[in-house]
Amino acid sequence: MAKPKLAVVKMTGCAGCQMEVLRIEDKLLDLVGAIDMAYFYMATSANRHGPYDVALVEGSVSTPRELRELKELRERSKLLIALGDCACTGCLPSIVNWVPPQESAKVYERFLEIHSKKESFQKVYPLSAHVRVDLELRGCPPHRDTILEALKGALLGIKPFLREHPVCVECKMKENVCLLVCEGRPCMGPVTAAGCGAACPSNGRVCEGCYGPMSDANASSLAEILAKRCGLSKEDLIGKFRKYAGLMPAFSKEAGGAI
Ligand code: SF4
Ligand code: SF4
Ligand code: SF4
Repeated sequence: MAKPKLAVVKMTGCAGCQMEVLRIEDKLLDLVGAIDMAYFYMATSANRHGPYDVALVEGSVSTPRELRELKELRERSKLLIALGDCACTGCLPSIVNWVPPQESAKVYERFLEIHSKKESFQKVYPLSAHVRVDLELRGCPPHRDTILEALKGALLGIKPFLREHPVCVECKMKENVCLLVCEGRPCMGPVTAAGCGAACPSNGRVCEGCYGPMSDANASSLAEILAKRCGLSKEDLIGKFRKYAGLMPAFSKEAGGAI
């Protein structure tokens, strides 16, 4: 029987999610035995165009070329999986949606001459704004175990278990001292979906919300607490909620309003 064909494709993102696929390392060889790695620029030079059984797509859509490629990929792929926040929520590339061009020009000299900028859409959106997405793996990047679980599920035809509870649950299971309650530090854990094993609080850093909103997140309540208890300004709060998932309905109000 032919092995299922896998493609790992990049749109606008930093390649960190693809690196996380490579970080599966020890399991990757077993996986390579079970699949046909048909397209993955970071792993093979023998890339072939579809059709594919599974396409993992990193990055958001910021140019007409990417939109064209995404639509073609959708047609050629049985399962299309959004890999990481850029693909699922818009993430860091989508911050440009709220930034007037003159602000960008303050950072980049000759901003309008930047080649990629000349070709770009005015607004950047996740994959689901353009095509049907079968599964979203959140995180910046998603944890390698989540990617592995999703790939195994795709091969076996089983939906993987994606956590909907907050990071706080994983944080408490690790018996961490709460940085928000005990130290008054601005942690996004109470509204952020779990899956990372509370990586940041377990290392003394607040959660920045990179897994996006948990199910039924109460963003306005956390925003109130972060303002009162941690002294965050309105601008700070907007930045926090906008950074990874400002386009998501659960965070959009706190991120400065829908665009
Ligand atoms: S989700 Fe994060 S790690 Fe993945 S491509 Fe986007 S910025 Fe990079
Ligand atoms: S440190 Fe953050 S993630 Fe951990 S319990 Fe406190 S608020 Fe939740
Ligand atoms: S603790 Fe928060 S910011 Fe850190 S990896 Fe987990 S979800 Fe992302």
